[in-house]
Amino acid sequence: MADIKVSIASPVIEEEEIDAVIEVMKSGMIAQGPKVIEFEEEFAKYVGAKYGIATNSGTSALHVALLAAGIGEGDEVITTPFTFAATGNSILYTGAKPIFVDIDPETFTLDPNQVEDAITDKTKAIMPVQLYGQSADMGAIMKISKDYDLVVIEDAAQAHGSEYNGVKVGCLGDMACFSFYPTKNMTTSEGGMITTNNEEFVKNAKIYRAHGSATKYHHDVLGYNFRMTDIAAAIGLEQLKKIDTFNEKRIKNAKLLNQGLADIDLIETPVVKEGYKHVYHQYTIKIKDGKRDELSEHLLENGVGNGIYYPIPLYNQVLYTKMGYDQSLPVTEEIVKEVLSLPVHPALSKEDLDYIIKVIKEFFN
Ligand SMILES: *Cc1c(COP(=O)(O)O)cnc(C)c1O
Repeated sequence: MADIKVSIASPVIEEEEIDAVIEVMKSGMIAQGPKVIEFEEEFAKYVGAKYGIATNSGTSALHVALLAAGIGEGDEVITTPFTFAATGNSILYTGAKPIFVDIDPETFTLDPNQVEDAITDKTKAIMPVQLYGQSADMGAIMKISKDYDLVVIEDAAQAHGSEYNGVKVGCLGDMACFSFYPTKNMTTSEGGMITTNNEEFVKNAKIYRAHGSATKYHHDVLGYNFRMTDIAAAIGLEQLKKIDTFNEKRIKNAKLLNQGLADIDLIETPVVKEGYKHVYHQYTIKIKDGKRDELSEHLLENGVGNGIYYPIPLYNQVLYTKMGYDQSLPVTEEIVKEVLSLPVHPALSKEDLDYIIKVIKEFFN
């Protein structure tokens, strides 16, 4: 295989982040401390939520959010099968059951029209995924949640700064969970954050984050050590100052890719619906002639990193089939065969983007 010339992801770490880490290291306060509190406040302010609760990963944020909402054994949580494993895993950790419903064929997010039919006496929550940087149809999802008294937890791991009708992802549901893994739109190395306006959820989440302990050495429930460190928070505070610039660069890169790929009939470029701000965690195209895997290979042979997110619906993962899941959702089944994500991150140059377009055009000619 050829050397990678253009990578699929590349975190932007500059002097500011490095200096901030050194400062924390020298302070002697390297676990959860004042930087974490500052990052929680600043991040919540950024998304427009009242509170932020930092965790050590996006996965633990999802896990803690579910626990904070009282979800556990015997409960059902409606979600999408077209997502990263963490979405389903976090539900399983609590003892609840993920109920998978189909997705919108254009945006690949949870189809609200399928949600209502999946509601049973056991349903406690809906977990839409703000996939690739674009929100699900939160208006429709929140309406269903009100009608049936369900909690909505946004999996916002891929959507920092994304908007729905002018409101940022992170305060569209009852809680939202972000990831700061290095491939995401902003990073803290590993890290996560819950945002919410609900004080009860904040109180519960902080207890579950720290061994089920509200008062030191008193443990009323089984909790975890899911704390963020001040080292990670210091990186996050610097990245937060740059997130809008990073996203603008992603949006600009996506536009250039849209233009460059516009005249290839077999490619469908990303659909952004009216009222949505897409922040392109991934730039994901559909390949309509069954040659998706060949194109992926061709790109790699020419040094262009690319990714298939996600090749297998969660309900078809061995983890789930062993639990007895036996599902086939038509839109999901089609989409997993067609999607391909191209580099769109802020570190790309115009030359990189022109090169990606050239390599794709060669394939179709
Ligand atoms: C990255 C991601 C997560 C998990 O985040 P980590 O920080 O890696 O634990 C959860 N859900 C989705 C959709 C993600 O992309």
